[in-house]
Amino acid sequence: MSLRSVRDDFPGLLTAEGKPWHYLDTAATAQKPQAVIDATVRAMGADYATVHRGVYARSADMTLAYEAARRTIAGFVGAPEHELVFTRGATEAINLVAHAWGNTHLKAGDRVLLSTLEHHANIIPWQLLRDRVGIEIDVCPLTRDGLIDLVAAEQILTPAHKLVSLAHVSNVLGSMLHVEHAVALARAVGAKVLIDGCQAVPRLSIDVAALGADFYVFSAHKIYGPTGIGALWARAEILESMPPWHGGGAMIDRVTFEKTTYAPPPARFEAGTPAIIEAIGFAAAVDYVKALGVEKIAAHEMALTAQARDELRRLNSVTVFGPEESAGIVSFALDGVHPHDLGTILDEEGVAIRAGHHCAQPLMDWLGVPATARASFGVYSDESDIAALLRGIERTKRIFG
Ligand code: PMP
Repeated sequence: MSLRSVRDDFPGLLTAEGKPWHYLDTAATAQKPQAVIDATVRAMGADYATVHRGVYARSADMTLAYEAARRTIAGFVGAPEHELVFTRGATEAINLVAHAWGNTHLKAGDRVLLSTLEHHANIIPWQLLRDRVGIEIDVCPLTRDGLIDLVAAEQILTPAHKLVSLAHVSNVLGSMLHVEHAVALARAVGAKVLIDGCQAVPRLSIDVAALGADFYVFSAHKIYGPTGIGALWARAEILESMPPWHGGGAMIDRVTFEKTTYAPPPARFEAGTPAIIEAIGFAAAVDYVKALGVEKIAAHEMALTAQARDELRRLNSVTVFGPEESAGIVSFALDGVHPHDLGTILDEEGVAIRAGHHCAQPLMDWLGVPATARASFGVYSDESDIAALLRGIERTKRIFG
């Protein structure tokens, strides 16, 4: 399948009037291919039943489909299925680790290393853990061009550091972390590693075993799947060492009022009726991406990103942030124009960008701006989207004189 033909797979890429919509906000959430829409409609309709409980055939079939979805998604990131916990998204996955692992394994005075470019989802759960158990948080600075500075990380890390938690790909700058290097530095002081793979899983080929981290989190909706579901991968022995964080149905072994024993992972961390439809849709999205080839998608997005950076810079009045080598995401500023105004004018032109702090306010402080404009690409993006973006910026410049 050529990447050029995929636009037709995505009904969301048309405006209400049926015109092409230049969707440059895939880093916020990706449009869905028809295959994912069809899979979720089937799961919600003809195939629908609960999982793990029913004695009737439809429920048994749905249970098989739900667990097959787990196998598909785990396999996609190089993990065995029993190491993949379904969550509501990357945010919930990090909160799960901060609670179930952090409450148990960290104590007052232990340190966690984050970086300046983290999404709030990888900052606030650790601040809440700090409030609960008294850990300390350190922040790894960035290099001048916006990469997590691993030379600085090496200097900061001490045996008091029990966790290093970093984004694989920045949702603002597209900066890519050398995960194996970060893992080696963490290992040298005995720290565990969590990688926020929200922006990496849709854009890079991921093998958690090769990366060597302990936790890896991601969301379905960024990889062309439904909202409301994501995943936590963690090594089996680490999951085993974690108590549950939510209680309810499906996560138990035996319940009495005196004492309850819990199911083994991953069920231990999936209390309640799960997001069945979403899991099926998540697996359909992974199958869609696999059929196209993650490497092909990565090369396609990298090429578009490089082209966008070049062409934006050629406009002179634009500042482009972040490293030259970036994955699918470009943040920029237009001189004298607030990103929100630019976003509003671009919307009139059928171009959707994101304008704001992108849930990364410490990074905005580091860049010295309250907000940036961000264009982000997906498998369906092409040169026409960049051309429309540039036309819209030129028009904005004329309007602002
Ligand atoms: N981390 C990063 C790098 C992200 O881009 C996002 C989503 N913007 C998140 C975490 C949180 O993901 P979600 O909102 O799907 O839980």
